[in-house]
Amino acid sequence: MQINKLFDTAIIGGGVAGTSLLYTLAAFTPVKNIVLFEKYDELAMLNSNPKANSQTLHVGDIETNYTYEKAQKVKRDASFVSNYIYNVGGIEKIGFVRDKMVLAVGKKEVQKLKERYETFKSLYPYLELWDEKFLVEHEPKLMEGRTEEVLAMGARNQITTVDYKRLSESFAKNALDTDKNIQMHYNEAVTEIHREDNGHYLLRTENGEFHARTVVVNAGAYSLLFAQSMGYGHHFAILPIGGSFFFAKKKLLRTKVYTMQNPKLPFAAIHADPDCTQSWHTRFGPTAFALPKLERYHSLHLQDFIDALNIDTDVTKVYFDLFKDSTIRRYILKNFLEEIPLVGKEVFINDARKIIPTLGVEDLEFAEGYGGMRPQIIDKQKHELLLGEAKIVEEGIVFNMTPSPGATSSLAIAYKDAQTLCTHLGLSFDHARHERMIQSRI
Ligand SMILES: Cc1cc2nc3c(=O)[nH]c(=O)nc-3n(C[C@H](O)[C@H](O)[C@H](O)COP(=O)(O)OP(=O)(O)OC[C@H]3O[C@@H](n4cnc5c(N)ncnc54)[C@H](O)[C@@H]3O)c2cc1C
Repeated sequence: MQINKLFDTAIIGGGVAGTSLLYTLAAFTPVKNIVLFEKYDELAMLNSNPKANSQTLHVGDIETNYTYEKAQKVKRDASFVSNYIYNVGGIEKIGFVRDKMVLAVGKKEVQKLKERYETFKSLYPYLELWDEKFLVEHEPKLMEGRTEEVLAMGARNQITTVDYKRLSESFAKNALDTDKNIQMHYNEAVTEIHREDNGHYLLRTENGEFHARTVVVNAGAYSLLFAQSMGYGHHFAILPIGGSFFFAKKKLLRTKVYTMQNPKLPFAAIHADPDCTQSWHTRFGPTAFALPKLERYHSLHLQDFIDALNIDTDVTKVYFDLFKDSTIRRYILKNFLEEIPLVGKEVFINDARKIIPTLGVEDLEFAEGYGGMRPQIIDKQKHELLLGEAKIVEEGIVFNMTPSPGATSSLAIAYKDAQTLCTHLGLSFDHARHERMIQSRI
C-alpha cells in the first residue's frame, strides 16, 4: 500500500454513512487517496448495526409519520440502496425481500388510512388495501381475538429489511476493489481536527497526525461535537434518544407491520419486525426515551454528553415546549417505564397488543443487547426538534448527524457530499456511471 499522509479525503466513522461515502468517492469520482478512521475494530458497531436499528428500508409507503414531500424524498433515497443491493447481487444477503404493511385499528384510523391510500397510491402504485378477510388468511395472528375493526395498506415482495452492517461491509469491499489508494484505520479514534493555514486539515489520532484536503465527519452524535470544537454548528444541540426493543419468544409474523402514527408524537409509532439476526423472530419497538449517553452499550464520557446537550435558554425552551403537551408527557413517562426491568413489559404490552391482540406478557422478553441512540437534533434558532438528518458544510469539511432514516438515506447523502468534495477539489463527478449503477437497476 502506498503510504501517503496528505489524503484527498479523510472520513471519520465507519458506519453506513462513512462507508457509503467511501464507496461513492472510490467508484464515481477521480478522488485517489482516501483514509477512513473507525474507533472500533469493525465497521458498523454503533447505530448501523442490525441489533441497534429496526433494519427497515424506509420507502415512505407504510410510514404514516411522513408527509407526501418527505415520502417522495425518502422513496428516491431508498431506491439508491435497493438498486445497489440488486446490482451487487445482495438479495437475501444484505437486503431481504418480504411483505410489509401499515395496520389501522379502530374507525378513526381506518378512515385516515383510506384517505392516505387515495393520496399516496400514485406515488406507490403497488400498494394494496388488505381487509380483515385477507388478513385472517395472510397474517392470522393479527386477527386472533380482535374486536375492533382493522384495515391494512400493504405491499408484497419488496426489500423490507436491510442488514446495514453487511451493507457497510459491502461498500468498503467494493471501494477497496477499485484501484484507489484507500487506507482503513480501525481501532483509531480521531481526537482533534484543525484547519491549517494552507487550507488543508490536520487530524490527530492516538497513533499520529494525518493531513487531508477535505474531511467528512460521519461519527453520529460526535459529528456535532467535532463541528463545535472547530467553531461551527453552535446553533444545534443534541437530544440523545434511546430506542429499545422486545422480542416475541415465537415467530409470529412473516410481514413487517407498522402502526398508524399519532401526529402529536415526534417519534415513529412502534412496529413489529421479523428480525434478520434472530431467524426472523418478531421484534417489537423501538421505544423512545431520553438517556444520558451517546452510545447505547458503551461507557459514558460525561463531558461529551454535556457538550452535546449544549443546554442554554434556547434548548430549554424546546424541552419546555415538548413537555407542556400532555400527550407528549404521557408518552415520555410510558417510554421511561418501559425501560424498568419487570414493569417494562407490562407497560409495553399494551402497544404490542395493538398489533397482536392475544399477546401475553409471558410471550415477550426485553431484547437484551439490542437498541441504539438516536442523535436527534435541536435547532436552537428555530426552537425546533428536527426529525431528520442535519448537515453542516464548511470550506472542504462536512459534518453529518444522521438519526432515522439515516441508514436508508446513506447513499443519497454520500452522493451529495461526494459532489461537494469534488467541487472543492476541482474534480468531476461521474454522473453517468452513478446513474447506471445506483440510480437504476442493471
Ligand atoms: C432504535 C433505532 C432504530 C433505527 N431504525 C432505522 C431503520 O429501521 N432504518 C433506517 O434507515 N434507519 C434507522 N435508524 C437510524 C440509523 O441507524 C442511522 O441513521 C444510521 O445507522 C447512521 O449511520 P452513521 O454511519 O451515521 O452512524 P453510526 O452507525 O453510529 O456510525 C458512526 C461511526 O463513527 C465512529 N466514530 C465515532 N467517533 C469517532 C471518532 N472520534 N473516530 C473514529 N470513529 C468514530 C463510531 O464508532 C461509528 O462506527 C435507527 C436508529 C435507531 C437508534
